[in-house]
Amino acid sequence: MGFARACSVALVGVDGVVVEVQADLEPGVAAFTLVGLPDKTLVESRDRVRAAVVNSGAAWPQKKLTVGLSPASVPKAGAHFDLAVAAAVLGAAEVVDPDAIADLVLIGELGLDGRVRPVRGILPAVVAAAEAGYRQVVVPRQCAAEAALVPEVAVLGVGSLRQLIAVLTDAPVPEEDPPDGEGRPDPMLAGLLLPGAGLGTGLARGAEDGPDFPDLGDVAGQHGARRALEVAASGGHHLFLNGPPGAGKTMLAERLPWILPPLTRQDSLEVTAVHSVAGILPPGEPLVSRPPYCAPHHSATMQSLVGGGAGIPRPGAVSLAHRGVLFLDEAAEFSAKVLDALRQPLESGHVVIARAAGVVRLPARFLMVLAANPCPCGRHTLQGSGCDCPSSVIRRYQARLSGPLLDRVDLRVEVEPVTRSDLLGRGGRGEGTRAVADRVREARERAAARYAGTPWRGRGSAGRAPGAGGPVRGSGR
Ligand SMILES: [Zn+2]
Repeated sequence: MGFARACSVALVGVDGVVVEVQADLEPGVAAFTLVGLPDKTLVESRDRVRAAVVNSGAAWPQKKLTVGLSPASVPKAGAHFDLAVAAAVLGAAEVVDPDAIADLVLIGELGLDGRVRPVRGILPAVVAAAEAGYRQVVVPRQCAAEAALVPEVAVLGVGSLRQLIAVLTDAPVPEEDPPDGEGRPDPMLAGLLLPGAGLGTGLARGAEDGPDFPDLGDVAGQHGARRALEVAASGGHHLFLNGPPGAGKTMLAERLPWILPPLTRQDSLEVTAVHSVAGILPPGEPLVSRPPYCAPHHSATMQSLVGGGAGIPRPGAVSLAHRGVLFLDEAAEFSAKVLDALRQPLESGHVVIARAAGVVRLPARFLMVLAANPCPCGRHTLQGSGCDCPSSVIRRYQARLSGPLLDRVDLRVEVEPVTRSDLLGRGGRGEGTRAVADRVREARERAAARYAGTPWRGRGSAGRAPGAGGPVRGSGR
């Protein structure tokens, strides 16, 4: 008597590894030992689990209790093992049937009161469980819709440990208080994201749903830049917009995701997994279906750009822009180190974050838009000096964007200041997003047809091929 097992999932980047949680009860002095848990968060798990079990009305076993997570070699971080640990303990104590939890994958953090809190990374965790052959997962109620994106598994969303115990013992399931809203979205990262993230920017809906997205027709003038935007979207080319402040560079960049085609199902799942690990999926919209847009500020740190942080590493801007658009406004103002860090994802489509327990690899294949002022004051023009910046200062300023970075940018456009007649609409309103998006889609379909039957595919699929110029080996689509 006194042994039970349940499963959970450890996250390494956006990949999950199923972890077995074993609980063993032996006669002896009451004690609770956790093994296989290097991370500090996990050690705290012990106190949370004990309080949650007691506050859920179950008796805490007054015996020598040992809980182990295996395999030990998998780096484990995060608080989401709580639910599986609690289930294994309850199984060992025969509060619930050990057989009923043996093939369950449980993911969720416990509050001291026994409530189950939402956690980051549900989608990749459930994908991993499904791939390992598990067919039943238990997740925080707020995350049930996200877990349900994986059709192979049956999902049980629970609001509290009390509810889980009731389900496992065939007792009536008690009502719970509404969730306390902890966990997501992370306000620090939320500001980075516009489309698809539902953060009150008005950009969250699909282009098909109505006029609630930034329209390319709103951009006054800028015929050359608009054309470049379309070419960038069609061919998956990185773009450099050089021009004075107020010329509309940001407006142009913001409109790029909306002329890109919607994400394929596979790309949607990839992007959603990254955003899930970042903790920025908007409640009620579990699947990201539009190419994301991420515009980090030029004061961005290395970590916010490439990812990192304690516990489960948070994806940085380059990963949040995966399969979408990364916009670096005032690119020359970013630190040289940060700009240099872009070279790896531009080459390989992923970033590697070094951790104490090994390296974590996160996807980061994006379409990059750089924007810069021509000089520190911004008024310098190609035709002649519109400003008083000394030419040496101008040269130094422009040299801050390193050669290796600009070498990967196919399209460089001088964005001219907006003229009075443009603002007054004398040149007529430009084409809207929808018309341009249609042409982009057609161009990509033509490219796909051209590559059909070859091992190559076009660079179109939101983010271009690794290497400067060659097609990428792919699925032959
Ligand atoms: Zn100047």
